Amino acid sequence: MPETAATPSAPFEPCHWLAVAVPAPAHSALAQTLTYAHSAPLPAGTLVRAPLGQREVPGVVWGLADAPDAALAAHIKPLACAFTSLPPLDENWRQLIAFTARYYQRALGEVALAALPPQLRTLDEAQMARRLAKLAKQDAVAQGPATPAARPSPTPQQAAALAQIAQGAGPFLLHGVTGSGKTEVYMRAAEAVLAQDAAAQVLVLAPEINLTPQLQARLAARFAPLLGAGAVVAMHSGLTPAQRLSAWLAAHTQRARIVLGTRMAVLASMPALRLIVVDEEHDPSYKQQEGARYSARDLAVYRARLQGAKVILGSATPSLESWHASRPDGGKYQRLVMPSRVGSGAGAGAGGAAALPLVRRVDMSRQPRGTVIAAPLLQAITERVGRGEQSLILLNRRGWAPVLHCANCGWKSECPHCSAFRVFHRADRSLRCHHCGLAQPVPRACPACGNADITPIGRGTEQLEERLAALLQTARRPDGQPARIARMDADTTRLKGALAQQLAHVHDGSVDVLVGTQMIAKGHDFRRVTLVAALNPDTALFSSDFRAPERLFALLMQAAGRAGRDAAYSQASGQGSEMWVQTEYPAHPLFEALKRHDYPGFAASQLAERQAAGLPPYAHLALLRAESRTLPAAIAFLQDAAAALQADPALAHWAAHVTCYPAVPAAMQRLAGMERAQMLLESPRRAALQGLLAGWQAALHALRARHKAVLRWAIDVDPLSF
Ligand code: ADP
Ligand code: ZN
Ligand code: ZN
Repeated sequence: MPETAATPSAPFEPCHWLAVAVPAPAHSALAQTLTYAHSAPLPAGTLVRAPLGQREVPGVVWGLADAPDAALAAHIKPLACAFTSLPPLDENWRQLIAFTARYYQRALGEVALAALPPQLRTLDEAQMARRLAKLAKQDAVAQGPATPAARPSPTPQQAAALAQIAQGAGPFLLHGVTGSGKTEVYMRAAEAVLAQDAAAQVLVLAPEINLTPQLQARLAARFAPLLGAGAVVAMHSGLTPAQRLSAWLAAHTQRARIVLGTRMAVLASMPALRLIVVDEEHDPSYKQQEGARYSARDLAVYRARLQGAKVILGSATPSLESWHASRPDGGKYQRLVMPSRVGSGAGAGAGGAAALPLVRRVDMSRQPRGTVIAAPLLQAITERVGRGEQSLILLNRRGWAPVLHCANCGWKSECPHCSAFRVFHRADRSLRCHHCGLAQPVPRACPACGNADITPIGRGTEQLEERLAALLQTARRPDGQPARIARMDADTTRLKGALAQQLAHVHDGSVDVLVGTQMIAKGHDFRRVTLVAALNPDTALFSSDFRAPERLFALLMQAAGRAGRDAAYSQASGQGSEMWVQTEYPAHPLFEALKRHDYPGFAASQLAERQAAGLPPYAHLALLRAESRTLPAAIAFLQDAAAALQADPALAHWAAHVTCYPAVPAAMQRLAGMERAQMLLESPRRAALQGLLAGWQAALHALRARHKAVLRWAIDVDPLSF
């Protein structure tokens, strides 16, 4: 009998059934995992590649699947391959992903795969094994010096905060004014967990790492010498795909001990995570605005509890949600307060104190019409130039003018694709839409009537820079030279390295007056700034967005925090640092609170308003959003969705506690050629809202199939923009 007859007969091989999370197409988003066959029983968390339809997609093994009956088994496809060289993603990570998918109403596979670095999904097994074998030094994104930076001994208020962090379970809300030394608290808290556990990992989240390179530099200086190069890694979207993969692998394999990342890093695999820090926890950029619209801040709190880690949320102006959650009577968070700047405590001698700036309001209703910078403010800036101090001038509008206008026929530079005006940029004589990016040369004459005299209305940073140069023409620096004015906004920092270069100019003192958008208010440590001015903050006072006052207050407090950080500059002349606000409503309670640097007072009044209006944090919100080429099509989908909700007896139990508001156009109705509508759901009970959203999904997917004109729809849980 010929031996060769023995063929590798597949049916007799041992076969294992696996539940795999794969990025399923939208219409089947309800299926959380799909069943696949494999020759070995892979552990949960193994990264695999699996056939799906005509494609092959990456997936994560979620567990064993029930054995299918014989008829079904024939249809189950085998996995294409399994990445067994990569340690499986652990139980905690899988639970975090499952929670995120459930809470934000997305498919499990979508969230799981979105949490992995894109390059990981395209490597083959051999490439993966090679990547893992190389633990290379040059991968360290944040290199530090060889010797540890000197650690200052904690101030009494830092010591008190650290003692509570050491003793308590948290979550902690660290409310510290700018310059109170929050970063030092984060680093000491990190040192404590690293000392306790030889393998411990720490995650530090920041809103935008690129805007604040100091934080990265400080962490690297403190921890790289201690833990070795490669132990401190950065994780954000500004990295190349290869760098992102490196950072992710370092965190997953526990080579990285400190991860500094933007919101995406909250979903990174960190098996030995012991501490999460969320710096500037109030920052809206922690909320993802597409796909799974998660809040990295909220997930950080969930993840910390899940993984037995501590979590510190830090801010000078906490979100009202976190402030409320840390109320002394019955809040879930522990509130830690650091009310004074480092060096300004009682007993600090003259010269050492870094006091908070004096807030001065200019009543613009009493200024001559068309005033750009009121005379007393201009005088104050001029004096600072003369003393060699710096001023920051904040204007929340880039470009030359927000709109071009024809006085003859009324034409305005509207964007054809958005409910917005295109902004006039004089540098390249373009009209640019800041929402969809459409850029065109400025027309020579009015496109509607041919009038050659079209004029800019209003003022942006580009124009302000030029106006200031004219207004400060006679101002002289101590060395007799004219004032040097610079501008920093999204336009001037577009090129790689431009931001770092501009920041360096401010630091080395070659800039006297810096004009810019809110970008200049971020956590920069400008030593010689003694004056900050907000030129036109009023629009936010009357916005339809209920969070607008909270955001404005945070921005102004943050801007104020840039002034007088170094006592030597604000006090050498006997003149303290100042924050100027130009407003038509100087008596507005928001500015009154700002004048007192009174965040708690501002928060209390806002919370009272929120409670009276039934808004977060006293109610929980979700939006159903829809986009279509026409507004009626988007509205019709939402109306049918509401009808489906009311008609479903299975949802009645939840619906009784949820208010469903009528479908309306979004605040920004037209964006990039899409008409956008939304429907608000509100409930005092989070569980009711969650139950309703989960039960509604099937109907929404079915509805979408009938509403072909609806090109996109999404549920936004705990929305931040309306
Ligand atoms: P925040 O993050 O609250 O704005 P920082 O951590 O940046 O404050 O601290 C403000 C400044 O005070 C920094 O220059 C920092 O190096 C310094 N600093 C912080 N803690 C101390 C301390 N205990 N002793 C001396 N200087 C400190
Ligand atoms: Zn015209
Ligand atoms: Zn546009």
